[in-house]
Amino acid sequence: MRIAIIGAGVAGLTSAMLLRGSGHQVTVYERATELAEVGAGIQLGPNGVRVLRAAGLDAALRETCVATTSLEGRQWDTGELVYEMRYGDESQARYGAPYYVCHRAVLQNLLREQVGDDRIVLSREVVDITQDDSGVYITFADRSTATADLVIGADGIRSKVREIVSGYERPAYSGMSAFRGNIPAERVGAGDLGAAMVKWWGPVPTHHMVMYRLSDDSVNFVAVVPDEEWTSDSWVTPADPDDVRTRFAGFVEPVQSLLDGVDTVYRWALHDRDVERGWSNGRTVLVGDSCHAMLPFLAQGAVQAIESAAVLARCLSAVPDEVGLTEALKAYEETRFDRVAQVHATCRQHGLFSSATDPDFVDQLYHYDADTAPIDFGVTR
Ligand SMILES: Cc1cc2nc3c(=O)[nH]c(=O)nc-3n(C[C@H](O)[C@H](O)[C@H](O)COP(=O)(O)OP(=O)(O)OC[C@H]3O[C@@H](n4cnc5c(N)ncnc54)[C@H](O)[C@@H]3O)c2cc1C
Repeated sequence: MRIAIIGAGVAGLTSAMLLRGSGHQVTVYERATELAEVGAGIQLGPNGVRVLRAAGLDAALRETCVATTSLEGRQWDTGELVYEMRYGDESQARYGAPYYVCHRAVLQNLLREQVGDDRIVLSREVVDITQDDSGVYITFADRSTATADLVIGADGIRSKVREIVSGYERPAYSGMSAFRGNIPAERVGAGDLGAAMVKWWGPVPTHHMVMYRLSDDSVNFVAVVPDEEWTSDSWVTPADPDDVRTRFAGFVEPVQSLLDGVDTVYRWALHDRDVERGWSNGRTVLVGDSCHAMLPFLAQGAVQAIESAAVLARCLSAVPDEVGLTEALKAYEETRFDRVAQVHATCRQHGLFSSATDPDFVDQLYHYDADTAPIDFGVTR
């Protein structure tokens, strides 16, 4: 099939890698003029790593990522250890893959190399899509056009493709925003941090900070604060480092010395959207944040996008020999819906705070195998 993928984020590039691997003719259209990720880290739980390893990225991930040893939950004012989740060798033994963290640009580059730059077209912003029985017709902002047998909308939480497929609904503001930044490791005594992630729980659960080492030289932090309103038009704004220092004054070390070392900070308004049915319409289908944007408290948004991309690729590999395109797209949604709805709901209930101590939840989260999850092509929904 000729498949046009809209958006070169984790969802789009993973879909492109997997679909290309199964023989489809894939083109990724991205509105940005260059592929550059935000200067932030990303956690890749074992349920996502397993998919990437099976796609041939095992050695590359091992070389470029940090294998996290544990997640420690600590009190902001005393440093007391509230819980500890063991990853490291335990993750490999229990879930069949490590828990990795890396810079977002590292993951983007690995995926992009697999897809091939010749399959990625930059500076193409989709503004319209029409379709009939024989194809899908895409119009870009520069008036150029493209034709495909299938369009995959991997264009994020404010998806234009979603708007065209099922109508526009505003994403919901969570009442929280997140400061994000990276700092040279020597400024926080990264030796002490080792390869652990630490989550410092503030006076209220909506006020917390996660930090982890991205490499020998760099530590990443995400610092969440309650904010009743978000008044800026933009969802990402440059922030004043003094602002994050003030909001986290009183947190124990190494939080203070980390924030003292911060030069550049950005701030994200945290949004999500209800997970709703209707991921496909004719020859158009959604994947990733465009259909299941979630709050970041389980560090699973991109990982769920990887899982969805894997199931979508499996469903499409059955077309046309076993089933038609419509059935394949319905089976994809059916296979994924309950899974992402559960993860999404847990993020809204504030994720790991309540669930970290629930081994059943954690096992269910990380055991899920997108490469073997049963697919029922008989669904008629
Ligand atoms: C603070 C924070 C921390 C997070 N941490 C983690 C984590 O540790 N682990 C994790 O798994 N997830 C994490 N997430 C969630 C994760 O970032 C998202 O779920 C993931 O990036 C979604 O990927 P995507 O490819 O669906 O969308 P996006 O990354 O938004 O990519 C969409 C792409 O489509 C392009 N595009 C948009 N519109 C158009 C158009 N009209 N035409 C052409 N191109 C278009 C965009 O330019 C972009 O490149 C975090 C999120 C936040 C806010």
